[in-house]
Amino acid sequence: MEIYTSFIFFLFGTIFGSFFMVVGIRLPQKISFSNERSKCPACHYQLAWYDNIPILSYLLLKGHCRKCRYSISYLYPLTEATTGFLFTLCYWHAATPTEVLLSLLFISLLILIIITDLYYMVIPNKLLALFLFAFILVRLIEPLNPWWDSVAGALTGFLIIFIVILWNKEAMGAGDMKLMAVLGVVLGFSHIITTFLLACISGAVIGIVLLRFSIIQRNKPFPFGPFIALGALLSYFSGDILIHWYLNLFT
Ligand SMILES: [Zn+2]
Repeated sequence: MEIYTSFIFFLFGTIFGSFFMVVGIRLPQKISFSNERSKCPACHYQLAWYDNIPILSYLLLKGHCRKCRYSISYLYPLTEATTGFLFTLCYWHAATPTEVLLSLLFISLLILIIITDLYYMVIPNKLLALFLFAFILVRLIEPLNPWWDSVAGALTGFLIIFIVILWNKEAMGAGDMKLMAVLGVVLGFSHIITTFLLACISGAVIGIVLLRFSIIQRNKPFPFGPFIALGALLSYFSGDILIHWYLNLFT
């Protein structure tokens, strides 16, 4: 039963991952993502249903368009597989059905903003507003302990980035500030701080590696949203273990 349900979660995750790629790429460009079917960007061949099967289609077509052999980004199967894996993790991690729903929503927002921030360096307000509404609803049903920890988390998330922007305007943006506030509703005070610390550490480490291999340039702007997402993921799934470990270092 466990394996069967895990597999269903993985399957749905890959389908949602495929949908998130479409939404994440189209939403900032204001292209409708509901009625227009996906096309090959090179030859405009309209993809059939069997070209849209998550992960499998990419593998079967060896990463190329069926008609013109245009190379398809590996980010598609990567996003599909990652979302599948994270959806399965939600099922394993959450204790109640409400928590499963909350963690699925949480992962969905993170995947979407990673895509929009990497592609366009934006975190769309529409997405943040929609998920803020959903998070507040779920937190009303299943509040943190104490309930006001959500409010504290949102305020703290907002303020941390606000202070960083006051100190250095180039370092982070208004989108990062709003994102941290929205995530704070789910995570609460201590986990939003862990999120920020993990985002800074992973940003620094990955930034150095990318600079070393000349994948990014020193004076070019660099999206911070994906690192907030990474920090939030680690904090959500293993924040308590990390905080416990950190505090134990000093005792
Ligand atoms: Zn093509």
